[in-house]
Amino acid sequence: MDNRIHEVIIIGGSYAGLSAAMQLGRARRKVLIIDEGLRRNRFASHSHGFITQDGVDPAIIAANARAQVMKYPTVQWVSARADLARRISGTGSTHAAFEVEVGDTRYLSLRLLLATGVKDILPNVIGLAERWGKSVFHCPYCHGYELDRGRIGVIAGSELSMHHALMLPDWGPTTLLLNGTFEPDAEQLAALEARRVTVERTAVAAITGHADVRLDDGRTLSFAGIFALAPLELASPMAEQLGLEMDRGPLGAVIKTDPMKETSMQGVFACGDAARMMASIALAVGDGNLAGAGVHRSLMFGLI
Ligand SMILES: Cc1cc2nc3c(=O)[nH]c(=O)nc-3n(C[C@H](O)[C@H](O)[C@H](O)COP(=O)(O)OP(=O)(O)OC[C@H]3O[C@@H](n4cnc5c(N)ncnc54)[C@H](O)[C@@H]3O)c2cc1C
Repeated sequence: MDNRIHEVIIIGGSYAGLSAAMQLGRARRKVLIIDEGLRRNRFASHSHGFITQDGVDPAIIAANARAQVMKYPTVQWVSARADLARRISGTGSTHAAFEVEVGDTRYLSLRLLLATGVKDILPNVIGLAERWGKSVFHCPYCHGYELDRGRIGVIAGSELSMHHALMLPDWGPTTLLLNGTFEPDAEQLAALEARRVTVERTAVAAITGHADVRLDDGRTLSFAGIFALAPLELASPMAEQLGLEMDRGPLGAVIKTDPMKETSMQGVFACGDAARMMASIALAVGDGNLAGAGVHRSLMFGLI
């Protein structure tokens, strides 16, 4: 095989991509990871819920993972944004089947793995973006416990925020701030009442201080933390460039894969947040582990 051809190019070198790379490096496969270093959780200083790493800075978890993976001599790393991925002619068992462009450089591979994650499209509320991951969150399992049963505000983005509002009383007394987005019907109001959720109808003017919500009528409600549901979009246009099939969920679309994480295009795999509805570091690591085995199986048996 041509020396310049990588067996696998992994785009995205965070939890999912590194977990896949570890499987492939341990199988002595020639892997190139291309990563631009924009993890989804880079706004948070502590990560929770990933066993053995509970409370650790997520940047440290990623850096430790990278250091462990890069000990495998067949794995290489490029710090950059991949601009374009395309299928090229070739059998995919010995001739390159994929080409990835990074600036003026072209990288070739037999298989391609997208571990590119997603982007949160933050609600347009003054003061929210700068508090994202610090006192404004989306995941109760990741950040609810640390609020120590203090008061919690849920800023609604749509009717989907009912889910947040009904969950969060397990972590603290909860107020649902409708902010003009929807009006709960009788059944929803009964469900909120059963969970002792306070409903606030006055519009939100801004978030100030740690997690204080200033309302349009001049009142301020102080919370230990605020939750907001953010719609998602894929962090990279590669799935679109390749014409991959998508799975549509309530918050956005993710890449559709089979149980071994292969996409609708043979030889292209996807894992982590980019390819699953439920997201966490633990799930991304598990997904990457599976994708690594899927890619390896495809290489061993020439499944392309
Ligand atoms: C504020 C916040 C806090 C969170 N806290 C927790 C928590 O406490 N516990 C928990 O379990 N989960 C938490 N999460 C969820 C967690 O961040 C994700 O589930 C996890 O990061 C998914 O890992 P991933 O590898 O799939 O994607 P990511 O970690 O998002 O990594 C994707 C990588 O791909 C790279 N990339 C994308 N496109 C390209 C391209 N074209 N070229 C090169 N590189 C590219 C990115 O730069 C990035 O490095 C949190 C999320 C947020 C938003």
